[in-house]
Amino acid sequence: MKKILFADKDSDLQMDKKEKRDSPEKKGFIIEALSSVIGKQGEDIIKFLDAEKYINEFIIAKKLDITINQTRNILYKLSEHGLVSSIRKKDKRKGWYTYFWRLETLRTLNFLKEIVKKRIEQTAQQIQSREIKTFYVCERCNIEYNEENALLHDFTCSECGNIFVLKDNTKTIKELKKNLEKFEKQQEIINIEIDGEKEKGNKKKVKEIKKEEKEKVKKRMEKKKERDLKKKKEEKLAKKPQKKPAKKFKGKNKKIRKHFKQKTKKKVKKKK
Ligand SMILES: [Zn+2]
Repeated sequence: MKKILFADKDSDLQMDKKEKRDSPEKKGFIIEALSSVIGKQGEDIIKFLDAEKYINEFIIAKKLDITINQTRNILYKLSEHGLVSSIRKKDKRKGWYTYFWRLETLRTLNFLKEIVKKRIEQTAQQIQSREIKTFYVCERCNIEYNEENALLHDFTCSECGNIFVLKDNTKTIKELKKNLEKFEKQQEIINIEIDGEKEKGNKKKVKEIKKEEKEKVKKRMEKKKERDLKKKKEEKLAKKPQKKPAKKFKGKNKKIRKHFKQKTKKKVKKKK
């Protein structure tokens, strides 16, 4: 059985503990992933989400100082991408459901990994295009045209009438390459964090499996004990078959038996 942790009060949050657990890189990645879905609010909401326990949405709303509906909208958006998950609990007194939310770290990291992968592909494509193709620019308006468009415009700026000059791509390419390097490094660290997260998950699973295995063995032993006891009883009975063991009446049966006894007694009396 999986143990589910809930945070139902402010004091259950204990965010400082969490901060000690996560590396700053990982925290940054998670914020970036959340922000790519919900914008700047990603930075705020991460402070009140936890990967280990489910947090009451009313606490999150209170901490963010927004309404419960606004909070839910944000969290639904995140859950659409699997970055958070929820469990609902019915309030027995009020009869409505309260949702408890948890951060899905591994899915969030994988989500960011895909974003970075796309960035890398796009940047590589841009570099290639800059290296192969020629670009023109109006230096006055700083508007750039590729070769086809420059030709269409007769190499003259439609805004100011200036003649285009050939764009020197070296600076742009250098910048793009720098970005590519940055993204690739980021990808590497994300992969390390993903591996770490998977390992953590595996360790947890192994622990759970071991626990289950232990419980199974315990149950098996108990069943064996029962079987042995039954066997012993049967063996005892087999030794003295002449005596049929008196049926023991328990609880309700006892009452019925008593009732029967009295009835038969009365019948006997009547016959006399
Ligand atoms: Zn111009």
